[in-house]
Amino acid sequence: MSLATETIASLRQRLASREITATDIVNDLAKTIEQRNPAIGAYLSYDVEAALAEAAKADATLPLGGVPIAIKDNINVTGQPCTCGSKMLAENYTAPYDASVIQQLRGAGALPFGRMNMDEFAMGSSTENSALGVTRNPWDLERIPGGSSGGSAASVGSDLAIAALGSDTGGSIRQPAALCGCVGLKPTYGRVSRYGLVAFASSLDQIGPITKTVEDAALLLNHLSGRDAADSTSLNVAVPDFTAGLRDGVKGLRIGLPKEYFVDGTHPAVSAAVQAAIKQYESLGAEMVELSLPHTDCGVATYYVLAPAEASSNLARFDGVRYGHRAANTTDVLDHYMSTRAEGFGPEVKRRILLGTYVLSSGYYDAYYLKAQRARTLIRKDFEDAFEKVDVILSPTCPSPAHKMGEMKNDPLTMYLEDVFTIAANLAGLPAISLPCGLATETGKPLPIGMQLVGKSLDEATLLRTAWAFEQSTDWHKTRAK
Ligand code: GLN
Repeated sequence: MSLATETIASLRQRLASREITATDIVNDLAKTIEQRNPAIGAYLSYDVEAALAEAAKADATLPLGGVPIAIKDNINVTGQPCTCGSKMLAENYTAPYDASVIQQLRGAGALPFGRMNMDEFAMGSSTENSALGVTRNPWDLERIPGGSSGGSAASVGSDLAIAALGSDTGGSIRQPAALCGCVGLKPTYGRVSRYGLVAFASSLDQIGPITKTVEDAALLLNHLSGRDAADSTSLNVAVPDFTAGLRDGVKGLRIGLPKEYFVDGTHPAVSAAVQAAIKQYESLGAEMVELSLPHTDCGVATYYVLAPAEASSNLARFDGVRYGHRAANTTDVLDHYMSTRAEGFGPEVKRRILLGTYVLSSGYYDAYYLKAQRARTLIRKDFEDAFEKVDVILSPTCPSPAHKMGEMKNDPLTMYLEDVFTIAANLAGLPAISLPCGLATETGKPLPIGMQLVGKSLDEATLLRTAWAFEQSTDWHKTRAK
Protein backbone atom coordinates (compact mmCIF):
# COMPACT_ATOMS: atom_id res chain seq x y z
CA MET A 1 0.00 0.00 0.00
CA SER A 2 1.31 3.46 -0.88
CA LEU A 3 2.58 5.51 2.04
CA ALA A 4 0.51 8.37 0.62
CA THR A 5 -2.58 6.75 2.18
CA GLU A 6 -1.24 7.02 5.72
CA THR A 7 -1.67 9.54 8.50
CA ILE A 8 0.99 11.62 10.23
CA ALA A 9 0.62 9.46 13.35
CA SER A 10 1.14 6.17 11.52
CA LEU A 11 4.03 7.47 9.41
CA ARG A 12 5.73 8.84 12.48
CA GLN A 13 5.72 5.43 14.16
CA ARG A 14 7.20 3.77 11.12
CA LEU A 15 9.77 6.55 10.65
CA ALA A 16 10.85 6.40 14.27
CA SER A 17 11.35 2.64 14.12
CA ARG A 18 13.37 3.13 10.88
CA GLU A 19 11.01 0.83 8.98
CA ILE A 20 10.61 3.57 6.35
CA THR A 21 12.37 6.82 5.48
CA ALA A 22 11.21 10.28 4.47
CA THR A 23 12.51 9.50 0.98
CA ASP A 24 10.08 6.57 0.71
CA ILE A 25 7.19 8.87 1.60
CA VAL A 26 8.15 11.55 -0.92
CA ASN A 27 8.58 8.91 -3.63
CA ASP A 28 5.16 7.39 -2.93
CA LEU A 29 3.52 10.81 -2.85
CA ALA A 30 5.19 11.83 -6.11
CA LYS A 31 3.86 8.67 -7.75
CA THR A 32 0.32 9.25 -6.54
CA ILE A 33 0.41 12.90 -7.55
CA GLU A 34 1.61 11.99 -11.01
CA GLN A 35 -1.22 9.49 -11.41
CA ARG A 36 -4.11 11.37 -9.88
CA ASN A 37 -3.37 15.07 -9.72
CA PRO A 38 -4.06 15.69 -13.42
CA ALA A 39 -7.70 14.67 -12.81
CA ILE A 40 -8.10 16.46 -9.46
CA GLY A 41 -5.90 19.52 -9.90
CA ALA A 42 -5.11 20.01 -6.21
CA TYR A 43 -1.43 20.94 -6.72
CA LEU A 44 -0.51 24.09 -8.60
CA SER A 45 3.13 23.07 -8.43
CA TYR A 46 5.49 20.74 -6.60
CA ASP A 47 9.22 20.10 -6.68
CA VAL A 48 10.06 16.44 -6.14
CA GLU A 49 13.80 16.92 -6.43
CA ALA A 50 13.89 19.63 -3.78
CA ALA A 51 11.66 17.51 -1.52
CA LEU A 52 13.91 14.48 -1.98
CA ALA A 53 16.96 16.59 -1.09
CA GLU A 54 15.22 17.71 2.10
CA ALA A 55 13.98 14.19 2.81
CA ALA A 56 17.54 12.88 2.66
CA LYS A 57 18.40 15.21 5.55
CA ALA A 58 15.20 14.64 7.56
CA ASP A 59 15.69 13.89 11.23
CA ALA A 60 13.33 11.06 12.21
CA THR A 61 13.86 11.77 15.91
CA LEU A 62 11.98 15.10 15.66
CA PRO A 63 8.22 15.11 16.40
CA LEU A 64 7.21 15.58 12.73
CA GLY A 65 10.54 14.36 11.35
CA GLY A 66 10.22 13.32 7.70
CA VAL A 67 6.52 14.12 7.20
CA PRO A 68 5.66 16.07 4.02
CA ILE A 69 2.98 18.75 4.47
CA ALA A 70 1.16 20.34 1.50
CA ILE A 71 0.95 24.14 1.70
CA LYS A 72 -1.86 26.41 0.53
CA ASP A 73 -0.49 28.78 -2.07
CA ASN A 74 -0.86 31.87 0.12
CA ILE A 75 1.73 30.85 2.73
CA ASN A 76 5.32 31.83 1.93
CA VAL A 77 7.99 29.12 1.67
CA THR A 78 11.47 30.33 0.73
CA GLY A 79 12.30 29.89 -2.93
CA GLN A 80 8.85 28.58 -3.88
CA PRO A 81 6.00 30.27 -5.74
CA CYS A 82 3.24 31.87 -3.67
CA THR A 83 0.61 32.76 -6.25
CA CYS A 84 -2.48 33.09 -4.04
CA GLY A 85 -4.31 31.61 -7.04
CA SER A 86 -3.89 34.97 -8.78
CA LYS A 87 -2.42 36.19 -12.02
CA MET A 88 -1.11 39.05 -9.92
CA LEU A 89 1.55 36.84 -8.31
CA ALA A 90 1.80 33.96 -10.78
CA GLU A 91 4.35 35.37 -13.18
CA ASN A 92 7.27 36.63 -11.21
CA TYR A 93 6.92 36.25 -7.46
CA THR A 94 9.11 33.82 -5.54
CA ALA A 95 8.80 33.79 -1.76
CA PRO A 96 11.90 35.37 -0.24
CA TYR A 97 11.28 33.98 3.25
CA ASP A 98 9.52 31.27 5.27
CA ALA A 99 6.25 32.10 7.00
CA SER A 100 6.54 31.61 10.76
CA VAL A 101 4.40 28.45 10.59
CA ILE A 102 6.81 27.04 8.01
CA GLN A 103 9.80 27.85 10.24
CA GLN A 104 8.04 26.05 13.07
CA LEU A 105 7.12 23.02 10.98
CA ARG A 106 10.69 22.76 9.73
CA GLY A 107 11.92 23.01 13.32
CA ALA A 108 9.75 19.97 14.11
CA GLY A 109 11.21 18.10 11.13
CA ALA A 110 8.32 18.40 8.65
CA LEU A 111 8.92 18.95 4.92
CA PRO A 112 6.78 21.59 3.19
CA PHE A 113 5.94 19.91 -0.12
CA GLY A 114 3.69 21.27 -2.86
CA ARG A 115 1.66 24.41 -3.50
CA MET A 116 -2.08 23.93 -3.26
CA ASN A 117 -4.69 25.60 -5.43
CA MET A 118 -7.08 28.10 -3.87
CA ASP A 119 -9.64 30.76 -4.66
CA GLU A 120 -7.84 33.92 -5.68
CA PHE A 121 -6.53 35.63 -2.51
CA ALA A 122 -8.70 33.17 -0.52
CA MET A 123 -11.94 34.80 -1.65
CA GLY A 124 -14.47 32.12 -2.41
CA SER A 125 -16.01 28.82 -1.34
CA SER A 126 -15.42 26.63 -4.38
CA THR A 127 -11.86 27.19 -5.69
CA GLU A 128 -13.54 28.25 -8.94
CA ASN A 129 -12.10 31.73 -8.36
CA SER A 130 -8.55 30.48 -8.88
CA ALA A 131 -7.02 32.15 -11.92
CA LEU A 132 -4.60 29.27 -12.31
CA GLY A 133 -6.56 26.07 -12.69
CA VAL A 134 -9.52 23.92 -11.78
CA THR A 135 -9.62 21.75 -8.66
CA ARG A 136 -12.19 18.97 -8.54
CA ASN A 137 -13.79 17.16 -5.65
CA PRO A 138 -12.14 13.71 -5.43
CA TRP A 139 -15.48 12.14 -4.48
CA ASP A 140 -17.13 13.35 -7.68
CA LEU A 141 -15.00 15.07 -10.29
CA GLU A 142 -17.96 17.08 -11.54
CA ARG A 143 -18.26 18.83 -8.22
CA ILE A 144 -16.37 21.61 -6.45
CA PRO A 145 -13.97 20.74 -3.60
CA GLY A 146 -15.09 23.77 -1.58
CA GLY A 147 -12.83 26.69 -0.89
CA SER A 148 -10.92 28.68 -0.53
CA SER A 149 -8.44 25.98 0.61
CA GLY A 150 -9.83 23.62 -2.07
CA GLY A 151 -6.47 22.27 -3.22
CA SER A 152 -5.42 21.48 0.34
CA ALA A 153 -8.66 19.64 1.14
CA ALA A 154 -8.90 17.82 -2.21
CA SER A 155 -5.33 16.56 -1.78
CA VAL A 156 -5.84 15.26 1.75
CA GLY A 157 -9.23 13.80 0.82
CA SER A 158 -7.73 11.79 -2.03
CA ASP A 159 -4.40 10.70 -0.50
CA LEU A 160 -2.47 13.12 -2.69
CA ALA A 161 -1.10 14.56 0.57
CA ILE A 162 -0.58 13.27 4.10
CA ALA A 163 -1.83 16.56 5.58
CA ALA A 164 -2.02 20.18 4.50
CA LEU A 165 -2.10 23.75 5.74
CA GLY A 166 -5.02 25.99 4.86
CA SER A 167 -6.16 29.43 5.92
CA ASP A 168 -9.60 30.31 7.23
CA THR A 169 -11.13 33.79 7.15
CA GLY A 170 -14.79 32.79 7.02
CA GLY A 171 -14.68 29.02 6.69
CA SER A 172 -11.96 28.31 4.15
CA ILE A 173 -10.43 25.44 6.13
CA ARG A 174 -13.62 23.90 7.53
CA GLN A 175 -15.89 24.10 4.48
CA PRO A 176 -13.54 22.40 1.95
CA ALA A 177 -12.56 19.87 4.65
CA ALA A 178 -16.26 19.05 5.09
CA LEU A 179 -16.88 18.73 1.34
CA CYS A 180 -13.81 16.53 0.77
CA GLY A 181 -14.21 14.27 3.83
CA CYS A 182 -11.31 15.63 5.90
CA VAL A 183 -10.77 17.14 9.32
CA GLY A 184 -10.19 20.92 9.22
CA LEU A 185 -9.31 23.05 12.23
CA LYS A 186 -9.42 26.84 12.50
CA PRO A 187 -7.54 27.77 15.66
CA THR A 188 -8.46 30.61 18.03
CA TYR A 189 -7.57 33.99 16.49
CA GLY A 190 -4.01 34.68 17.66
CA ARG A 191 -3.16 31.05 18.47
CA VAL A 192 -1.11 30.74 15.26
CA SER A 193 1.15 33.40 13.76
CA ARG A 194 -0.03 34.95 10.50
CA TYR A 195 3.44 36.18 9.56
CA GLY A 196 4.07 35.07 5.99
CA LEU A 197 0.41 34.37 5.22
CA VAL A 198 -0.71 36.75 2.47
CA ALA A 199 -3.36 38.84 4.23
CA PHE A 200 -7.01 38.78 3.16
CA ALA A 201 -8.88 40.13 6.21
CA SER A 202 -6.33 40.48 8.99
CA SER A 203 -8.77 40.49 11.91
CA LEU A 204 -10.28 37.18 10.75
CA ASP A 205 -7.49 35.18 9.05
CA GLN A 206 -5.99 32.12 10.77
CA ILE A 207 -3.78 29.32 9.46
CA GLY A 208 -4.71 25.78 10.43
CA PRO A 209 -4.39 22.09 9.55
CA ILE A 210 -6.42 19.95 7.13
CA THR A 211 -5.86 16.29 7.98
CA LYS A 212 -7.22 12.75 7.68
CA THR A 213 -7.80 12.36 11.41
CA VAL A 214 -8.41 14.43 14.53
CA GLU A 215 -5.17 13.15 16.06
CA ASP A 216 -3.21 14.50 13.07
CA ALA A 217 -4.89 17.89 13.50
CA ALA A 218 -3.76 17.93 17.14
CA LEU A 219 -0.23 16.86 16.16
CA LEU A 220 0.06 19.66 13.62
CA LEU A 221 -1.49 22.27 15.88
CA ASN A 222 1.24 21.51 18.43
CA HIS A 223 3.77 22.77 15.89
CA LEU A 224 1.84 25.71 14.46
CA SER A 225 0.90 27.44 17.72
CA GLY A 226 2.66 30.01 19.83
CA ARG A 227 3.62 33.64 20.26
CA ASP A 228 5.60 35.11 17.41
CA ALA A 229 7.33 38.47 17.70
CA ALA A 230 6.72 38.99 13.97
CA ASP A 231 2.90 38.96 14.42
CA SER A 232 1.69 41.36 17.12
CA THR A 233 -1.74 39.69 17.15
CA SER A 234 -0.30 36.30 18.07
CA LEU A 235 -1.08 35.50 21.69
CA ASN A 236 1.45 35.06 24.41
CA VAL A 237 -0.19 32.06 26.05
CA ALA A 238 1.02 28.60 26.92
CA VAL A 239 0.73 25.96 24.20
CA PRO A 240 -0.45 22.67 25.69
CA ASP A 241 0.24 19.30 24.05
CA PHE A 242 -3.01 19.05 22.10
CA THR A 243 -2.70 15.27 21.78
CA ALA A 244 -2.54 14.72 25.55
CA GLY A 245 -6.25 14.74 26.41
CA LEU A 246 -7.64 13.31 23.17
CA ARG A 247 -8.74 10.06 24.78
CA ASP A 248 -10.43 11.55 27.83
CA GLY A 249 -13.96 11.07 26.47
CA VAL A 250 -17.06 13.26 26.55
CA LYS A 251 -18.90 11.97 29.60
CA GLY A 252 -20.69 14.92 31.20
CA LEU A 253 -19.57 17.30 28.45
CA ARG A 254 -22.24 19.90 27.65
CA ILE A 255 -22.80 20.30 23.91
CA GLY A 256 -24.83 23.31 22.76
CA LEU A 257 -27.25 23.07 19.83
CA PRO A 258 -28.03 26.59 18.59
CA LYS A 259 -31.54 26.67 17.17
CA GLU A 260 -30.50 29.17 14.49
CA TYR A 261 -28.17 26.54 12.98
CA PHE A 262 -30.86 23.87 12.62
CA VAL A 263 -33.08 25.45 10.04
CA ASP A 264 -35.09 24.80 6.89
CA GLY A 265 -33.02 25.02 3.77
CA THR A 266 -30.38 22.65 5.07
CA HIS A 267 -29.98 19.63 2.77
CA PRO A 268 -31.89 16.64 4.24
CA ALA A 269 -28.81 14.39 4.16
CA VAL A 270 -26.87 17.02 6.14
CA SER A 271 -29.65 17.34 8.74
CA ALA A 272 -29.93 13.56 9.06
CA ALA A 273 -26.17 13.08 9.49
CA VAL A 274 -25.89 15.80 12.11
CA GLN A 275 -28.92 14.44 14.01
CA ALA A 276 -27.28 11.01 14.02
CA ALA A 277 -24.08 12.60 15.36
CA ILE A 278 -26.06 14.20 18.18
CA LYS A 279 -27.48 10.78 19.12
CA GLN A 280 -23.99 9.32 19.00
CA TYR A 281 -22.71 11.98 21.41
CA GLU A 282 -25.61 11.24 23.75
CA SER A 283 -24.72 7.58 23.72
CA LEU A 284 -21.14 8.54 24.60
CA GLY A 285 -22.41 10.36 27.68
CA ALA A 286 -22.50 13.98 26.54
CA GLU A 287 -25.38 16.23 27.52
CA MET A 288 -27.20 18.19 24.80
CA VAL A 289 -28.28 21.73 25.61
CA GLU A 290 -30.53 23.67 23.27
CA LEU A 291 -29.60 27.31 23.07
CA SER A 292 -29.87 30.44 20.98
CA LEU A 293 -27.26 32.60 19.26
CA PRO A 294 -29.70 35.42 18.52
CA HIS A 295 -27.54 37.48 16.17
CA THR A 296 -26.78 34.60 13.81
CA ASP A 297 -28.85 36.19 11.05
CA CYS A 298 -26.47 39.20 11.00
CA GLY A 299 -23.42 37.00 10.43
CA VAL A 300 -23.21 36.84 6.64
CA ALA A 301 -23.93 40.55 6.16
CA THR A 302 -21.44 41.53 8.88
CA TYR A 303 -18.73 39.36 7.38
CA TYR A 304 -19.31 40.61 3.84
CA VAL A 305 -18.83 44.20 5.03
CA LEU A 306 -15.80 43.66 7.27
CA ALA A 307 -13.86 41.12 5.20
CA PRO A 308 -14.01 43.17 1.95
CA ALA A 309 -13.18 46.35 3.90
CA GLU A 310 -10.00 44.79 5.24
CA ALA A 311 -9.25 43.15 1.88
CA SER A 312 -9.53 46.46 0.02
CA SER A 313 -6.84 47.86 2.28
CA ASN A 314 -4.62 44.75 2.31
CA LEU A 315 -4.71 44.36 -1.47
CA ALA A 316 -3.70 47.98 -2.09
CA ARG A 317 -0.09 46.78 -2.04
CA PHE A 318 -0.51 45.02 -5.39
CA ASP A 319 0.15 48.06 -7.52
CA GLY A 320 2.71 46.84 -10.04
CA VAL A 321 5.46 48.84 -8.39
CA ARG A 322 6.91 46.55 -5.75
CA TYR A 323 6.14 43.01 -6.85
CA GLY A 324 3.78 40.92 -8.89
CA HIS A 325 2.16 41.65 -12.20
CA ARG A 326 3.08 44.93 -13.90
CA ALA A 327 1.11 46.30 -16.84
CA ALA A 328 3.17 47.11 -19.92
CA ASN A 329 3.26 50.39 -21.85
CA THR A 330 1.36 52.54 -19.38
CA THR A 331 1.25 56.30 -19.87
CA ASP A 332 1.41 57.69 -16.34
CA VAL A 333 1.36 56.49 -12.75
CA LEU A 334 -2.42 56.35 -12.42
CA ASP A 335 -2.75 54.42 -15.67
CA HIS A 336 -0.01 52.13 -14.36
CA TYR A 337 -1.92 51.32 -11.17
CA MET A 338 -5.23 50.95 -12.93
CA SER A 339 -4.02 48.76 -15.77
CA THR A 340 -1.95 46.57 -13.46
CA ARG A 341 -4.88 45.94 -11.14
CA ALA A 342 -7.41 45.55 -13.96
CA GLU A 343 -5.20 42.88 -15.56
CA GLY A 344 -3.91 41.17 -12.42
CA PHE A 345 -7.09 40.67 -10.36
CA GLY A 346 -10.03 38.42 -11.24
CA PRO A 347 -13.71 39.38 -10.99
CA GLU A 348 -14.37 38.21 -7.41
CA VAL A 349 -11.33 40.05 -6.04
CA LYS A 350 -12.39 43.20 -7.87
CA ARG A 351 -15.92 42.83 -6.50
CA ARG A 352 -14.56 42.62 -2.94
CA ILE A 353 -12.21 45.58 -3.40
CA LEU A 354 -15.07 47.69 -4.73
CA LEU A 355 -17.37 46.60 -1.93
CA GLY A 356 -14.69 47.22 0.69
CA THR A 357 -13.73 50.63 -0.64
CA TYR A 358 -17.40 51.59 -0.71
CA VAL A 359 -18.17 50.63 2.90
CA LEU A 360 -15.07 52.49 4.09
CA SER A 361 -15.70 55.67 2.13
CA SER A 362 -16.70 58.79 4.02
CA GLY A 363 -20.44 59.07 4.19
CA TYR A 364 -20.91 55.31 4.21
CA TYR A 365 -18.38 54.38 6.89
CA ASP A 366 -20.83 54.79 9.80
CA ALA A 367 -23.73 53.18 7.99
CA TYR A 368 -21.81 50.06 6.96
CA TYR A 369 -18.37 49.53 8.44
CA LEU A 370 -19.08 50.88 11.92
CA LYS A 371 -22.43 49.16 12.06
CA ALA A 372 -20.83 45.87 11.06
CA GLN A 373 -18.26 46.29 13.84
CA ARG A 374 -21.11 46.72 16.31
CA ALA A 375 -22.86 43.63 14.95
CA ARG A 376 -19.58 41.74 15.33
CA THR A 377 -19.52 42.65 19.02
CA LEU A 378 -23.07 41.33 19.44
CA ILE A 379 -22.16 38.07 17.69
CA ARG A 380 -19.14 37.67 19.95
CA LYS A 381 -21.33 38.36 22.98
CA ASP A 382 -23.82 35.66 21.87
CA PHE A 383 -21.01 33.11 22.09
CA GLU A 384 -19.76 34.41 25.45
CA ASP A 385 -23.26 33.94 26.86
CA ALA A 386 -23.61 30.49 25.28
CA PHE A 387 -20.29 29.32 26.70
CA GLU A 388 -21.54 30.07 30.22
CA LYS A 389 -23.85 27.09 29.69
CA VAL A 390 -21.96 24.72 27.39
CA ASP A 391 -18.45 23.49 26.60
CA VAL A 392 -18.73 23.21 22.81
CA ILE A 393 -21.31 24.12 20.18
CA LEU A 394 -22.33 21.66 17.46
CA SER A 395 -23.84 22.37 14.03
CA PRO A 396 -23.50 21.35 10.40
CA THR A 397 -20.37 22.80 8.74
CA CYS A 398 -22.23 23.72 5.53
CA PRO A 399 -25.87 23.71 4.49
CA SER A 400 -25.35 21.15 1.71
CA PRO A 401 -22.82 18.70 0.26
CA ALA A 402 -20.55 19.79 -2.62
CA HIS A 403 -22.45 21.31 -5.52
CA LYS A 404 -21.70 20.87 -9.22
CA MET A 405 -18.99 22.99 -10.78
CA GLY A 406 -20.33 26.12 -12.40
CA GLU A 407 -23.66 25.91 -10.58
CA MET A 408 -23.16 29.07 -8.53
CA LYS A 409 -20.32 30.67 -10.37
CA ASN A 410 -22.37 33.60 -11.59
CA ASP A 411 -24.37 33.95 -8.44
CA PRO A 412 -22.04 35.43 -5.81
CA LEU A 413 -24.78 36.06 -3.28
CA THR A 414 -25.92 32.42 -3.13
CA MET A 415 -22.27 31.45 -2.81
CA TYR A 416 -21.85 33.89 0.12
CA LEU A 417 -24.81 32.25 1.86
CA GLU A 418 -22.92 28.93 1.84
CA ASP A 419 -20.74 30.44 4.58
CA VAL A 420 -23.67 30.90 6.95
CA PHE A 421 -22.50 28.34 9.56
CA THR A 422 -18.76 29.00 9.47
CA ILE A 423 -18.26 32.76 9.59
CA ALA A 424 -19.44 33.41 13.14
CA ALA A 425 -16.41 31.58 14.58
CA ASN A 426 -14.13 33.96 12.68
CA LEU A 427 -16.11 37.04 13.72
CA ALA A 428 -15.93 35.86 17.35
CA GLY A 429 -12.29 34.71 17.06
CA LEU A 430 -13.17 31.23 18.35
CA PRO A 431 -11.61 27.86 17.50
CA ALA A 432 -13.72 25.57 15.32
CA ILE A 433 -13.26 22.18 13.72
CA SER A 434 -15.05 20.30 10.96
CA LEU A 435 -15.00 16.52 10.90
CA PRO A 436 -16.68 13.88 8.71
CA CYS A 437 -20.04 12.71 10.09
CA GLY A 438 -21.82 11.05 7.18
CA LEU A 439 -22.30 10.54 3.47
CA ALA A 440 -25.02 11.87 1.21
CA THR A 441 -26.00 9.06 -1.12
CA GLU A 442 -28.94 10.54 -3.02
CA THR A 443 -26.50 12.75 -4.94
CA GLY A 444 -25.31 10.14 -7.45
CA LYS A 445 -21.83 9.47 -6.15
CA PRO A 446 -21.60 9.51 -2.34
CA LEU A 447 -20.52 12.89 -0.94
CA PRO A 448 -19.04 13.60 2.48
CA ILE A 449 -20.88 15.61 5.11
CA GLY A 450 -19.11 17.58 7.82
CA MET A 451 -20.12 18.55 11.32
CA GLN A 452 -18.74 21.64 13.00
CA LEU A 453 -17.76 22.04 16.64
CA VAL A 454 -17.00 25.54 17.96
CA GLY A 455 -15.07 25.88 21.22
CA LYS A 456 -14.29 28.46 23.88
CA SER A 457 -11.45 30.83 23.18
CA LEU A 458 -8.09 28.99 23.37
CA ASP A 459 -9.85 25.73 24.26
CA GLU A 460 -8.80 23.74 21.20
CA ALA A 461 -8.03 20.88 23.59
CA THR A 462 -11.74 20.34 24.44
CA LEU A 463 -12.66 20.76 20.78
CA LEU A 464 -10.18 18.08 19.72
CA ARG A 465 -11.20 15.72 22.53
CA THR A 466 -14.87 16.08 21.53
CA ALA A 467 -14.06 15.50 17.86
CA TRP A 468 -11.83 12.51 18.62
CA ALA A 469 -14.52 10.78 20.70
CA PHE A 470 -16.98 10.91 17.80
CA GLU A 471 -14.42 10.00 15.17
CA GLN A 472 -13.19 6.94 17.02
CA SER A 473 -16.70 5.68 17.75
CA THR A 474 -17.70 5.83 14.06
CA ASP A 475 -16.13 4.86 10.73
CA TRP A 476 -16.68 8.04 8.72
CA HIS A 477 -13.01 9.00 8.79
CA LYS A 478 -12.12 5.66 7.22
CA THR A 479 -14.45 6.16 4.27
CA ARG A 480 -12.27 7.40 1.42
CA ALA A 481 -12.92 8.91 -1.99
CA LYS A 482 -12.70 6.16 -4.60
N1 GLN B 1 -16.00 31.82 1.55
C1 GLN B 1 -15.58 32.93 2.34
C2 GLN B 1 -15.22 34.09 1.45
O1 GLN B 1 -15.39 33.98 0.29
C3 GLN B 1 -14.47 32.56 3.25
C4 GLN B 1 -13.15 32.58 2.64
C5 GLN B 1 -12.04 32.26 3.59
O2 GLN B 1 -12.26 31.79 4.70
N2 GLN B 1 -10.83 32.61 3.18
O3 GLN B 1 -14.78 35.10 1.87
